Amino acid sequence: MLIKKGISVAPGFVIGECYCLDSNEFPIQRRSIPAADVPRETARFQVAHASAVEELQGLAERLSGKIGPTVGILEAHLKLLQDQGLVRQINEEIVRNRYAAEYAVYHVCRRYRKRLTALGEGDFFAARAQDIQDIERRFLTHLTGRRRVDISKLDKPVIVVAHELTPTETAGLDREKIIGFATDGGGRTSHTAIIARSLGIPAVVGLDSITADVVGGDTLIIDGSNGMVIVQPDEETEKKYRALERNYRNLELKLSEELRDLEAETPDGCRIRLLANIDRPDDIRAALDNGADGVGLYRTEFLYVDPRDLPTERTHYEAYRRAHAEMGGREVVFRTLDLGADKFDLDGTSKEKNPFLGCRAIRHSLRNIEMFRAQLRALLRASEHGPTRIMFPMISSLQELRQAKDILEQTRQKLRAEKVPFAPDIGVGIMVEVPSAALLIDMLLDDVDFVSVGTNDLIQYTLAADRLNEKIADLYQPAHPAVLRLLQRVLEESAKREKPVSLCGEMAGEPVYTILLLGLGLREFSAAPATLPEIKQVIRKVTLKEAQEVAQKALLFRDATETLEFLRKRTKRILPDAF
Ligand code: PEP
Ligand code: MG
Repeated sequence: MLIKKGISVAPGFVIGECYCLDSNEFPIQRRSIPAADVPRETARFQVAHASAVEELQGLAERLSGKIGPTVGILEAHLKLLQDQGLVRQINEEIVRNRYAAEYAVYHVCRRYRKRLTALGEGDFFAARAQDIQDIERRFLTHLTGRRRVDISKLDKPVIVVAHELTPTETAGLDREKIIGFATDGGGRTSHTAIIARSLGIPAVVGLDSITADVVGGDTLIIDGSNGMVIVQPDEETEKKYRALERNYRNLELKLSEELRDLEAETPDGCRIRLLANIDRPDDIRAALDNGADGVGLYRTEFLYVDPRDLPTERTHYEAYRRAHAEMGGREVVFRTLDLGADKFDLDGTSKEKNPFLGCRAIRHSLRNIEMFRAQLRALLRASEHGPTRIMFPMISSLQELRQAKDILEQTRQKLRAEKVPFAPDIGVGIMVEVPSAALLIDMLLDDVDFVSVGTNDLIQYTLAADRLNEKIADLYQPAHPAVLRLLQRVLEESAKREKPVSLCGEMAGEPVYTILLLGLGLREFSAAPATLPEIKQVIRKVTLKEAQEVAQKALLFRDATETLEFLRKRTKRILPDAF
């Protein structure tokens, strides 16, 4: 039994079988063979080699003339497969050292990778090492007769273990079958964390080397409440966690059933809107089950799963129309595409040095106008089917906002000319995710109907602390005085102008910040559906007056850890079972 500590990002307990998304899907033992078996082993390797070449040629043919970078990668892999040096060395290992074919492949490929890494750092060598790893996987797939499990169709519940889940991977997951996550990297607002919370399943990230510590099929316990993962637990531990798992699930169910139909209102009568963050229309069921008043953040970029199959206007429209249908007349706030940076790098060849400071979100849309127009057309057309608001992500200046609004207006005019109907009263807003937007909020507010604070990014940009980097997770502090001052400013300026503000970062779904946010003036919280009942519970127990006192006090602390401790105590006072 091995116990690993990481960062707890989604609470709860689960026991299950591990499915490793990294190289451990082929655990290879060092295995020697008798001399008499050498011809059979070399023949096995030849067959595997021929099948791998054939498979790649087939793939390259099917994709030829489609997307450049993908075909380029396949051709590079094909060259590597046909590289006589690599093939000869693998054969030699089988003949000379009497290694089993699998081990010979593993051994030679590892040596290649090591040499590449020693040659230098940087994208070029990393990409070549990745190519060798892909070739190794392909050989091993054919040798072992094992196929990489298709993660969009799993036949049993699994706990996904990965180095770091990319949004593309999470978008393609069979969500029904995933019961927990554990990753080497990541922080509280990484995609693994966001997805886990939206699925309501436990997750621990920042485990450093979990992918090296497990092999597919191991039994794992995810203790999302305490940030722990237990590999191959002993009987007693497993029994203890089975009980915890049952109790936690029952409690959660009870809480959401009890609170679903109650108002999110403070005892002194302040009514709060509780909204859901969703990635796809399928998430709406959970939003309604947990009593959401609407969708406060629809992350539309999750339509981009496969770079070979980009969504069309029709794909966008169908998804948005479905979202409205499922919401049954409740409002949906659509965020336009937040592509780039960590999310859906559509052109894997154009890696940026600092992708979070690069061509991401609205910047990406303004540089890919046709894609942007197609989305806006779909959004406007779908607005016929339900109350709609549109918001632009990562606005950092008034000019950028005006450019985006101009394109929206042109799209409206075009639809009018084509006599295509759309709702006349669509609210247009921005996400406040960059300090410049928070500082200029008074100027920006004149041009928008509402704002939504994206604290996940606002915190990382304010504190210069990468939200995905587990090494500096301690510096990523929602309660940092600089963050609180920016929040206070946005809320106060919006109140002066009577413009609605919501907060849709992960902070909105963490009960420890609920009293503070209420006290600072927040009246719309948008969070992962499973977190809403707990937030509602806090709201129903704290008066506005008390929340305002807490917020005033919290603003005086000079150290985020002290603020957090204070908030924890105050929350526990009204909700003794919290945390
Ligand atoms: C945010 O930045 O707070 C946010 C909600 O957007 P995302 O997490 O998708 O970047
Ligand atoms: Mg963001």
